[in-house]
Amino acid sequence: MFKWSVTRKVTKTQKSAYDKARYAAKRADIRAKQNAYAAEHRKEKRVYDKDYQKRKRKLLTAKRKACRYKNIEHARLVEAAWREKNREKVNAYSKAMLKKRTPEEHRHFNEIARNRSKNATGAHTAKDWQDIIVRQQGVCAACGEDSLLTKDHIVPLSKGGTHNPDNLQGLCKSCNSRKHAKLPHIHVQVVGY
Ligand SMILES: [Zn+2]
Repeated sequence: MFKWSVTRKVTKTQKSAYDKARYAAKRADIRAKQNAYAAEHRKEKRVYDKDYQKRKRKLLTAKRKACRYKNIEHARLVEAAWREKNREKVNAYSKAMLKKRTPEEHRHFNEIARNRSKNATGAHTAKDWQDIIVRQQGVCAACGEDSLLTKDHIVPLSKGGTHNPDNLQGLCKSCNSRKHAKLPHIHVQVVGY
């Protein structure tokens, strides 16, 4: 068996393989010791854990996300079950959010949530969308009508379009619902502009 010694030159891979094997062999022992220590130092551990989570927030979030996407079907089932069980909490949260956000922001966040669930890539901010509206001078990109613009993904997300600003345009409600999830050239063939 490979033995770790300080005098011997070992590569990082060897060292990590050794550490892993050592940990696996002593796992129960190490865990018992950790648990005993944690039980004795409950308060300190809580403080440490909180601090750790704060320090490593980005890494931990990334890990959680990666894990979620690895088992996305399962994750969705678990989340749906949680929402079912905690309906009051969910409702209270959305109500609080409704109060806190402007309708514009609300639409924005709703849309982000929907797109995330479709695993679309890319991103834009509320400011990006505001800039697009300004650039279009509040006029529908399809019919030229001056009306409330809704977000349209030029290449639909369902056809591999991204959520980046360069894939966004403002359409009036009726043009947007007519276009739905068609690719631009199909839409032009059907509607004629
Ligand atoms: Zn229009």
